[in-house]
Amino acid sequence: MIGMMKGLGVTLKTLGTRKSTYKYPDEPIVMPDRFRGIQHFDPDKCIVCFQCARICPTQCITMSGKPNPDPEKKGRVIDTYDINFEICILCDLCTEVCPTEAIVMTNNFELAAYSRDELFKDRVWLQENNTNVRKDNNNIGAPKGGAK
Ligand code: SF4
Ligand code: SF4
Repeated sequence: MIGMMKGLGVTLKTLGTRKSTYKYPDEPIVMPDRFRGIQHFDPDKCIVCFQCARICPTQCITMSGKPNPDPEKKGRVIDTYDINFEICILCDLCTEVCPTEAIVMTNNFELAAYSRDELFKDRVWLQENNTNVRKDNNNIGAPKGGAK
């Protein structure tokens, strides 16, 4: 009886407080801006420097370049760019080293699939993943201009 009264007391105490649960997936969850979500890739910004692939600790980025089709321009352009989300740990290193912000994080996180093959995302998929792009991609929370 005492236990029941205690339980009822807790229920009454929390009746007027704000709910801490979400109606997900019926209502989308807005993640904080520093959230490390699925990357967006912009092929036009990519200079094929391979820095993202080199720093990736799980080696889940595979990419290739090709000569610039415009004879007036030097350098290479991106040909293929794939991320294997079976092993990507969303560590953010690829986006931090990218000098042109061709690869940036978004706040999107939904990757559930019925097949492992579906976790292999190509450049078209990554380019179309262009919603909720993180505003602050190259600042890891440090004050702009360095520490004072
Ligand atoms: S977030 Fe980390 S693990 Fe994923 S592709 Fe980038 S560097 Fe690799
Ligand atoms: S670091 Fe950026 S510019 Fe360099 S290859 Fe990767 S995505 Fe392209």
